[in-house]
Amino acid sequence: MSYRILATLIAISILFTTLAFSANQNNIQARVFIDAKPQLNQFYAQHLDVVNRNYNYFEIITNQDELNELEAIGFRTEVVIDDLKKFILSRYDKTRPMGGYMTLSEINDAVDVIVADHPDIVSAKVDLGQTIEGRTMWAVKISDNPNVDEDEPEVLFTSAIHAREVITPLVLLNVMDSLTDKYASVPYIQSLVDNYETWFVPVVNPDGYYHNEVIAPGGYGMWRKNRRDNGDGTFGVDLNRNFGYLWGYDDIGSSPNTDDQTYRGTGPFSEPETQNMRDFSIAHEFEISVYYHSYSNLYLWPWSYNLTTTEDEDIFVGLGDSACFLTGYTPNYINPLYEANGGTCDWYYGEQTLKNKSYSFVVEVGTYEDGFWPATSRIVPLINENYLATLFLIEVIDSVEQAMVPKPPALILEDTVDHSSYQVEWTHPDPFNPGVNYELVEYSDYSQVTDPADNFDNFINNGFTLGYSRFHSDYSSFYSGMSTANFSGYLTTRNPVLIKPGDIFRFWTFYRIEDDYDY
Ligand SMILES: [Zn+2]
Repeated sequence: MSYRILATLIAISILFTTLAFSANQNNIQARVFIDAKPQLNQFYAQHLDVVNRNYNYFEIITNQDELNELEAIGFRTEVVIDDLKKFILSRYDKTRPMGGYMTLSEINDAVDVIVADHPDIVSAKVDLGQTIEGRTMWAVKISDNPNVDEDEPEVLFTSAIHAREVITPLVLLNVMDSLTDKYASVPYIQSLVDNYETWFVPVVNPDGYYHNEVIAPGGYGMWRKNRRDNGDGTFGVDLNRNFGYLWGYDDIGSSPNTDDQTYRGTGPFSEPETQNMRDFSIAHEFEISVYYHSYSNLYLWPWSYNLTTTEDEDIFVGLGDSACFLTGYTPNYINPLYEANGGTCDWYYGEQTLKNKSYSFVVEVGTYEDGFWPATSRIVPLINENYLATLFLIEVIDSVEQAMVPKPPALILEDTVDHSSYQVEWTHPDPFNPGVNYELVEYSDYSQVTDPADNFDNFINNGFTLGYSRFHSDYSSFYSGMSTANFSGYLTTRNPVLIKPGDIFRFWTFYRIEDDYDY
């Protein structure tokens, strides 16, 4: 009898310990190392909350239980920030509520003020529909004759589709303030407002945004998804995995598991928030659509479902490079971290039946150090660094081709010239986007070369050595070495080589790739 009581007591005390532990778990930022090849797929299968990656580790937001589980199945881990709440709060200006970030009602109030103060150029708030918890999603348009749908090009800017990316509504509110406050005094702003219809949805995920206020009232919440009750004790669908273009294409970056941060939902557009954005976007013609996220200082564009480019890559590069010139961000950094189906980028561009294609971007505001809740002192710099690029994306809506690098002129010239006086003519292959100026370089002394690869006389060498164990002719070859990391080297010819249509460049190569890593 006494034995039974003791056993029951132990069981109860274990239960209490576990419950208390779960409830008080800190958010931890930690690295998970990939020490052996099979761990890579094993890692992906966990669908963790990845915020950064390096060549041999992923950085995740996690908790002690999850870290213990990862270690138990063989991963080596290293804690980077052991208490994210403490870390985030330590960087706040304590005199400002939530370190300077805004609550949902403060954002709504700020929009109300902009609408009330500038009814001549700001539309009444447009009700996009309800969220799953019954909140209203709002859009406003800034344009002349704002409550009329004029025949002007339209652009869409949104933020906070991910609840914890709290710098993003501030980026949009700053642009809205500027367009309205400077309308009367700055001709450039006036032309943007008068000639275009610029739409803003400052909070795409109000339920998730509000949830962070509840679970972390000081401003350090890490909730990302919406607040769908998944019916199994878990909550939330990742709205940026719930859009309908190739939804559920595979499980890379998009998870079928309800408790994952990238859970894509039960079907395409299963969530009211994405349905509302879809219907609103179909009802308009957004030439460009931009979803602000944080963080990583990036401009991303389609495709996201796999790591390939669209047939409009030239235009995306033109727009993205220009925006990155203005922000200092990196254009379309091809990184498997951002491979995922069901995102906004792919739907806005790829859905071309229900609506026109839209040049769609994801902007990742802020650096790795900034994280999801940047220091108070970083708010103004982050807002400012995105300001001009946002205006640029309004300015180019109806002339996206002009953001492209002009095509080189088509020369009308004999193949070779052997006299000192000759005439050069050229045509513009793209009259809509001619170069501002051209540089014409005269080359002479062309040579035809057969190189036996036994010295570098014909090349400017960067990274190669001579190898003697394999060769095609004679006794040597250019050798890149056996590399454990990425090899990046090149050979540049010293003398120009005249290449005419139909010419062939031929070389022999030997290579070995590493299983599961190189393709
Ligand atoms: Zn995001």
